[in-house]
Amino acid sequence: MAYAKETICIQSGWKPKNGEPRVLPIYQSTTFKYESSEQMGRLFDLEESGYFYSRLANPTNDCVAQKICELEGGAAAMLTGSGQAANYYAVFNICEAGDHVVLSSTVYGGTFNLLAVTMKKMGVSCTVVDPDADYETICKAFQPNTKCVMAESLANPALVVLDFEKFARAAHAHHVPLIVDNTFPTPINCNPFEWGVDIVTHSTTKYMDGHAMALGGAIVDSGNFDWSAYPDKFPGLCAPDESYHGVVYTEKFGKAAYITKATSQLMRDLGAVQSPQNAFLLNVGLETLPLRMERHCYNAQKVAEFLEANEKVAWVNYPGLKSSKYYELAQKYMPNGTCGVISFGLKGGRKAAEEMMDKLKLAAIVTHVADSRTSILHPASHTHRQMNDEQLKEAGVAPDLIRLSVGIENVNDIIADLEQAL
Ligand SMILES: *Cc1c(COP(=O)(O)O)cnc(C)c1O
Repeated sequence: MAYAKETICIQSGWKPKNGEPRVLPIYQSTTFKYESSEQMGRLFDLEESGYFYSRLANPTNDCVAQKICELEGGAAAMLTGSGQAANYYAVFNICEAGDHVVLSSTVYGGTFNLLAVTMKKMGVSCTVVDPDADYETICKAFQPNTKCVMAESLANPALVVLDFEKFARAAHAHHVPLIVDNTFPTPINCNPFEWGVDIVTHSTTKYMDGHAMALGGAIVDSGNFDWSAYPDKFPGLCAPDESYHGVVYTEKFGKAAYITKATSQLMRDLGAVQSPQNAFLLNVGLETLPLRMERHCYNAQKVAEFLEANEKVAWVNYPGLKSSKYYELAQKYMPNGTCGVISFGLKGGRKAAEEMMDKLKLAAIVTHVADSRTSILHPASHTHRQMNDEQLKEAGVAPDLIRLSVGIENVNDIIADLEQAL
């Protein structure tokens, strides 16, 4: 019987046998012991599954990856040391020098840099597309060497809701998978696989951990993309891997081919593992994720409505507001709510934003978003402070934009704090 998400969050992953610990143990061990050298050899040949070194696999991490896999409705999943590592591996697992990626322009700044700057140096180029562009315009971005499309389900911090079906159609028409970073809505509020997405990534650092305690990332494969239909496009999955005695991932691992390749090649060679200690904390966070997401969305809706009605506020961007350009898409893809992040601007512009933030008592000024504590950031004064107003506009950051990450405190206290500061 398939369980509901709330039940998966509590019960999945660690399944103790008779007499074993009820709670997921932290396997704080780099290595694992075997009785025979032959058995250890079979593990190295991928002939048998088992643990031998925590860079490749660790039981604590595997239990947590399994839980996230079930929440997304995927076929296989892995944890990484950060969200950045997840997005890097997700793309690099099917791209090499000379290949090309179609990238949504509103992805998180770190993902944009990863693709547009760092991976470019590695020979992987990208073409940036406006996620709101029509289907034909998006299709023009594809090249014969395009290997994937990368986008965000709910963009950080632009809060653009992705038209999944439009993007999936464009990707599949060009025989490549659609990879979507699902960090902001989490699998509680959105399951991209239901709308044609092939691979999902997460920065588990945000709502999944939820307490701002542990960096982490995850990659989940739906198992739906048929790599073997395009063996020339994806030789890494469909041709023999000489570093593993000629194993062909699609033949040997079926729906787990993509994740097995990412683990056995990228994790082996690049090593961005999540520590079992962090995976343990992530698992604790996952247990309450449905409760917290419900409260984040409830509070953010109330705060967004309060801000919209306040005369000092010039504009509010929250997909749960009827005034939002993305209201309909959010209702369709995230009917139970989006996330706790709101952006807004004050009539007094940049100066008023700075003054208002200095008066806040409950909301803290921090870089982080999407955890239990209400926090606030003014990109023009913080992350983008070297830029003048003109440069900010070019970067798509309005000088008066305030990013508010609504926490799970009592909403009346959050609103009272904003009210006195305004
Ligand atoms: C924070 C974030 C990342 C990067 O994750 P880290 O865990 O900080 O490496 C990637 N994508 C999105 C949408 C994010 O919000």
